[in-house]
Amino acid sequence: MLTNGTFFLPGPTEVRPEILQELTRPMLPHRGAAFEAIYARCDAGLRAIFRTSRPVYIASASATGLMEGAIRCSPAGTVLSLVNGAFSERFADVAVSCGRVVVRDVVELGMHHTAQKVAALLESSGARVVTLTHSETSTGAMNDIERIARVVHAAGAVILVDSVTGLAGARLETDEWELDFVFTGSQKALALPPGLALGVASASFIAAAAKNIDRGTYFDLVEFEKYAAKNQTPNTPAISLFHALAAQVEAIVAEGLEERWARHLAMQATTVTWAERYLRDMHPAFGVLAPPSGRSPTVSCITLPTTISGSAVAAAVSELGYVIGAGYGPLRDRTIRIGHMGDHTLTGLSSCLTHVAGVLQMMLR
Ligand SMILES: *Cc1c(COP(=O)(O)O)cnc(C)c1O
Repeated sequence: MLTNGTFFLPGPTEVRPEILQELTRPMLPHRGAAFEAIYARCDAGLRAIFRTSRPVYIASASATGLMEGAIRCSPAGTVLSLVNGAFSERFADVAVSCGRVVVRDVVELGMHHTAQKVAALLESSGARVVTLTHSETSTGAMNDIERIARVVHAAGAVILVDSVTGLAGARLETDEWELDFVFTGSQKALALPPGLALGVASASFIAAAAKNIDRGTYFDLVEFEKYAAKNQTPNTPAISLFHALAAQVEAIVAEGLEERWARHLAMQATTVTWAERYLRDMHPAFGVLAPPSGRSPTVSCITLPTTISGSAVAAAVSELGYVIGAGYGPLRDRTIRIGHMGDHTLTGLSSCLTHVAGVLQMMLR
């Protein structure tokens, strides 16, 4: 897989030219055999990537669409939202906007949640639904979904997982971990253009959802389930993006999921070593925001000395032809974010890091 190797934003991510080419194919009817064949290729690849035997819903929307769909289709009762950054906060906000009673557990930026505390919070709140991010893109923190899912199920609640920068970069086992709902967006670790949201629900989650009378229309997962059985979508899909999706999921399956996870871990290790050894030799404030116990393999949030601003670094790096992220929200100027996800290689990443280090060195003077 070959990318330009210059675009390291934590979303959207770099898309290979072969995949961009797929977007130029002619239109075809979305109710017909030709589209159904493309849908079937997407579904087969996505099942392998989500590690599930269930159909994967494909919505023509950004990832937040399925975040809303998940809330509207989840069982009645209090929602426990595990918040450790901007995207997990958004999940809580979506639940509030859908009229749900939400209990938030907010931890420090960079931190993750522990199964032990989640168990205690489930007991004290009586929550029926838990929302959280797998990889929190605003801080580079990662939650242990497998362990948290176990305590959620022990309490008889359902777990809704935002794996937007997790899936296809970090290990995630939908069926083995019995996750009730998991979703992602096309523009992160899947390395596709923005515009598609992909999600999978357990059979029991969907059976229970069918009894909710206020599921809405566009993100009604029960409808997606019905149409998926026919290799179709409820409404007109973003057909061009489906061509790209079919080609990309096949490329990901050809690479191998384990191999892809390992490549992301190697890119993370390179970035961590760069920050904690190389950069720290220049100034002690450089480092990785998240502790070693919970770091995402797809995005690293790098802390900066107070004299250097994250947005200024991102701007100076772009002058050199590379794109990285400034910090997000309250961390905007205190950090930078490197999105080492998708189809990037270690070689491309190392070259990006060398350019970023050059900029940082200059700014320290
Ligand atoms: C990017 C991102 C989202 C939002 O996705 P949209 O596609 O912009 O709706 C949600 N959660 C996480 C963790 C993300 O990284």
